[in-house]
Amino acid sequence: KSTTVPNVDGSINNTEEEDEEDVVDLAANSLLNKLIRQSLVESSHRVEVLQKDPSSPLYSVKTFEELRLKEELLKGIYAMGFNRPSKIQEMALPMMLAHPPQNLIAQSQSGTGKTAAFVLAMLSRVNVLELFPQCLCLAPTYELALQTGRVVERMGKFCVDVQVMYAIRGNRIPRGTDITKQIIIGTPGTVLDWCFKRKLIDLTKIHVFVLDEADVMIDTQGFSDQSIRIQRALPSECQMLLFSATFEDSVWQFAERIIPDPNVIKLRKEELTLNNIRQYYVLCENRKDKYQALCNIYGGITIGQAIIFCQTRRNAKWLTVEMMQDGHQVSLLSGELTVEQRASIIQRFRDGKEKVLITTNVCARGIDVKQVTIVVNFDLPINQAQEPDYETYLHRIGRTGRFGKKGLAFNMIEVDKLPLLMKIQDHFNSSIKQLDPEDMDEIE
Ligand code: ADP
Repeated sequence: KSTTVPNVDGSINNTEEEDEEDVVDLAANSLLNKLIRQSLVESSHRVEVLQKDPSSPLYSVKTFEELRLKEELLKGIYAMGFNRPSKIQEMALPMMLAHPPQNLIAQSQSGTGKTAAFVLAMLSRVNVLELFPQCLCLAPTYELALQTGRVVERMGKFCVDVQVMYAIRGNRIPRGTDITKQIIIGTPGTVLDWCFKRKLIDLTKIHVFVLDEADVMIDTQGFSDQSIRIQRALPSECQMLLFSATFEDSVWQFAERIIPDPNVIKLRKEELTLNNIRQYYVLCENRKDKYQALCNIYGGITIGQAIIFCQTRRNAKWLTVEMMQDGHQVSLLSGELTVEQRASIIQRFRDGKEKVLITTNVCARGIDVKQVTIVVNFDLPINQAQEPDYETYLHRIGRTGRFGKKGLAFNMIEVDKLPLLMKIQDHFNSSIKQLDPEDMDEIE
């Protein structure tokens, strides 16, 4: 990577970085998802449950009342606008609140209600009369820990005697401090430090242990081992809960190491499909030519909102400037922005303040802006081996079959990239038609 040295005016010449593609940062993406999430993600799949003891009855709940929660907790849930448990909560909550406590491994995509579920479990298990840490939640980053803490604070708004503390870098607590807060949320390194070196937390008194975002966690060097060291020091009757948005083998192996005798709940992700997307390509000579084709498409059809993907930051910047000079309202989303800045750009776009969002791969995944009618691949997604990146193509253009609306996708292709496009067409077995940008009648 090139090192960047600021100029006298504070600007940065990072020309080498601009040619780089933005890589996907799991923790940043997860945070972004949380910041822009406003409601539950739907799923057409059934929840799969694997019970520790298959002979015991399986409970599910359709209302929060059935859970017999403390009055003030129920009030907090309703104040958040929740009417009934989400799909995953229907199954997970009875297990999490059972007596004796049961351990749980749960996997479902981001936005399906996992955080709300374990926050509820922690809040309902706190003994407010006891003033020491009782629930411990590990998160992969400082920012994600804060997000979870916010949910605790909102849901626990009426549980006035329940308090949260953050074990995160920068939160300096003098040795010997008597921590009276019942819920601790932190990153593995700092929690380990607070427990073993600084003796601020007595792990033998923890009765709910939550490991959130396990897939992001194992992606960070050292976090799996640190988490396991913490878990080993917990009392055997402590309830252990693990959550993950994905479940590759590595996550599963980690989950099984860290959660003894678990129940397992899975909700499969809604698959993306290209079936309800009409795909086109336009042959172009160069970047200028691609831009002209884009303008023709714009002039030719009525467009609600559009997302345009570029492969490098440099291309994305160039296109943004061109479009702005031509009087379009566009915004640029790329990897050098902080997650908060990205969230605010996405929010503005959702609110319709800009009609066009230009982006690099950072935005390729998981960000659904429902009103987007067209997606443009200003550059085809290509991997390091100069082969098509099928997965990214699907993530940029695909919609979920059941909930997604119809869409239009345009690929701007230099002649030498045509074989790659044909590979994409074959791979997905779905047709990508050539379009004469002078003749838009084909589309409408
Ligand atoms: P996850 O942890 O799986 O990403 P969250 O718990 O953060 O999911 O929930 C996603 C969004 O849905 C949040 O905005 C949350 O406030 C909301 N939410 C969670 N549970 C419910 C529910 N039962 N009813 C309505 N909204 C909910």
